[in-house]
Order: sequence, then structure tokens, then C-alpha cells
Amino acid sequence: MAHEKTFYLETFGCQMNVHDSEKVVGTLVSQGYRQVESVEEASLVLYNTCSIRDKAEQKVFHRLADFRKLERQGKKFGVLGCVAQQEGEKIFERAPHVSLLCGSASYRNLPQMLVQLEAGKRAAGLDDRQTTETFETEFTARSNPHRGYITITEGCDKFCSFCVVPYTRGRERSRTSDAILAEARQMADSGYTEVQLLGQNVNSYHDPREKMTFAELLAAVGEINGLKRVRFTTSHPIDFTRDIVDAIDAVPALCDHVHLPVQSGSTRVLEAMQREYTREDYLERIGWIKAAQREISITTDIIVGFPGETEAEFEETLDLLTKVGYDGTFSFKYSPRPNTPAQTMADSISDEEKARRLAVLQEHQKEIQARLSRRYAGRTLEVMVEGKNPARAQLIGRTSQNKTLNFTVTGGNPAPEPGSYVRVHITESFPNSLLGEMVG
Ligand code: SAM
Ligand code: SF4
Repeated sequence: MAHEKTFYLETFGCQMNVHDSEKVVGTLVSQGYRQVESVEEASLVLYNTCSIRDKAEQKVFHRLADFRKLERQGKKFGVLGCVAQQEGEKIFERAPHVSLLCGSASYRNLPQMLVQLEAGKRAAGLDDRQTTETFETEFTARSNPHRGYITITEGCDKFCSFCVVPYTRGRERSRTSDAILAEARQMADSGYTEVQLLGQNVNSYHDPREKMTFAELLAAVGEINGLKRVRFTTSHPIDFTRDIVDAIDAVPALCDHVHLPVQSGSTRVLEAMQREYTREDYLERIGWIKAAQREISITTDIIVGFPGETEAEFEETLDLLTKVGYDGTFSFKYSPRPNTPAQTMADSISDEEKARRLAVLQEHQKEIQARLSRRYAGRTLEVMVEGKNPARAQLIGRTSQNKTLNFTVTGGNPAPEPGSYVRVHITESFPNSLLGEMVG
């Protein structure tokens, strides 16, 4: 019997990476590989990497060094994603046991690269950042049978001064609305009830056949029979138009949630970040969302300690958090990234000071969230059941607003299955979650 081709894949980073990995898994399986759960069982070990922050490349090199001795057992190693693209063939020099490198703009060449690898050669797919093509595959191996991602744009052309993405994921390119709708219909037909449209800037979507705007596409996906929930992430404020809010108001399946990363509450810092909007532009968009007929929850991303950020500018960010009233924030210490313009700006803020600002911001946001969360107590909301928390004898659900709502089932009713939708009466609120009892 020929030696079985097995692979182990570990994924780091954002939803885009998670979904890329689902496509990579499907591609490998279509090429005769079998996925296994541990490095020990695998003939090919793959890391899908992230380089957005925190010396991520060093962590990848450490991980690879740990496994160097396994090369003697005939295992092959591959680095995929942003660190592969960023570090390029330097990885072959620093980790000679690696024989596959593939940036995310080159995944469609994976089948040929695997053939090269099997012939005992090294394979590198790193040259496709200028591509205008997207990675389309019929083999996506989605890990959840109820909710799944659909890529609508890849890459980014915004070049914010702190961000590595345009250098690792390449030019911004969009799939046709026909291809996106066909994939969404196919998912609905095979039992998916929730889809999430994905892109670095999902709302910068530009239909190559000029058939639909982003808001029209969103509405069209929301109208597909069988889909109960449609989400989209991430939206860039500069491309956030009022018709997106109108679509949410008009189409019930579009979720009550917008993730709109602001990064800073100071117009001066936003300009240095090359974000292309001011604090006032951003607040105008928030005004549109708040004026909707539906109550839309709003979340954001924040960077503290960008080079030159003064205490007063940091306080403008705190003030913005209060003004907007976010239901959730992802906040980060600024981390200098290779190739980016901000890397050469004087980074006058010490790590201790960045850590202090981050802690202050997170404490401030926790108070805001605790207050906002209270408005849910006493309401009844529909959740999609995600699973069980056996330690607490609770089920875990997610609301349309993207809130975690843990709940109990009383009155001898059977526990609902993951993927089903039930109504839950909310009895208690916490900053990051809600608690309730299933109704009926
Ligand atoms: N395209 C999205 C946007 O423009 O808002 C963001 C995508 S990025 C993968 C996710 C988040 O990582 C950003 O919103 C930002 O807050 C954070 N981030 C990106 N580069 C960073 C850096 N150099 N240091 C710290 N945080 C960073
Ligand atoms: Fe990075 Fe800015 Fe592009 Fe977002 S818009 S991915 S932060 S360059």
C-alpha cells in the first residue's frame, strides 16, 4: 500500500484565516490527503499564520524550531498565510526543514505545489499579491454545519499606516455577486441557517460585473430562503454608507449588529494612521446606525499607544467610547509591523505606558458594557443554540446582536440541539454575556 498522505493544520489569527483554512483543508482532501488531529500522526504539518501584531513571526519560528527533529521521521512542514508572505524565502534559511511556503493570495496554486512537494522539491507560492483573482473552490470543508463564512473580498488597498495586511494579503479584489449568491444558496440548501460575509473591508465590496452594491448584495443574501441570519465583517468607516443601515431595517435576516473599527477617537491620530475619516465623520455614521428602526448593536477595534498619541488624544478615545456606547470592543497595544509607514515613526510611547492605557480603556469599556447590558434584562430574545456548558448545566446561545446568552431549560423540556433557534427570557446581565431561561 502506498504511504498514506496525512496532514495536520493549525490556524492562528482572524476569521479570514479560519475560513482560508477551511478552503485549504478541502483542497488537500480533494488531493488525496486525510486530516489528522496531531503532529505525530501527520506526514505534512501546516501552520496558517497571522502577522498582525506582537512579533508573530518570532512565535512561528519558535514553533518550527520545536519540530525540527521530526524531519528525520520523514515529516514535511509548511507555512501558510501572512507570516509566509511577510518573511518569504527567509523562512527556508532560518528553518531548513520547511518545504512549503504559501501566501494567502496564492492558495489557488496549492494543488500544483503539493505535487512539487510530493516529488521531493520545495514549493513557494509568494508572488501573487498583485493578483486580481480571488480563491474560488468547491471543496471548502466548513467546520460547523449550521453557520459558515463566505469570502466576498480579499486583500486590502487602504494602507493604514500601522497595518501589515496590504503587504501580506495583496490587492483588494471582490468576487462576483453571482458567485457569492450561488455559494450562499448552496449553503442554505445544505442546511446552513447563518452565513457571515467576510472581507478585510467587507463594505468596500465592488462587484466586478457591476450588478450590485454591497448593500444590495447584503439584502439579496438576506432574502435567500432558509437563511435566518446574515452577518458581515469587517466594515471600514469610509465605505460605510447609509444604505447598509436601510438594508438592515428592510431585511429581517440581516443581524442587529455592525462591527465598525474606529482605531482612535482623535482626528489627529486618525490622520497619522491614514484612516481617511475624522472623529466627526465616524460619529456621523454612528448616528445613522442609531437612527435605524431596529436597535443595532455596535462593536469596534481600538489601538492605543500609536506613535505620538498624547494623553489628551487617548482621552478623546475614552470619550468616544462613552459617546458611542459600544456593546463590545477589541483593543490592542500598537505594535510596530515590518514594511509599514508607522514603523519608521518615532515610537515615543513605552510598552508600560501602552499597557497602562490599554488597562484604563478596558476598565472604562467594561463599565459601559455592564451598563448597556442591563437594558437586555427582562427581554425575550431569539438565540441560535451553539452548544452546552456542562460545568454549569447551561446551554450557550448567540443573539442576533452577537451577544452570548447562556440559558437553562426548565419544566422538563428537552434541551434544544446545536443549530436550533429558541426564545430565551433574559434574567441577568453581565458585561460580556447574558443569562436566561428558555421560553416554552
Ligand atoms: N480592516 C479592518 C479595519 O480597517 O478596521 C481591520 C482588520 S485588522 C486584521 C484587525 C484589527 O487589528 C484592526 O482593526 C486593528 O485594531 C488591529 N491592528 C492592525 N494592525 C495593528 C498593529 N500594528 N498594532 C496593533 N493593532 C493592530
Ligand atoms: Fe489594515 Fe487598514 Fe486594510 Fe484594515 S483597512 S486591513 S486596518 S490596512
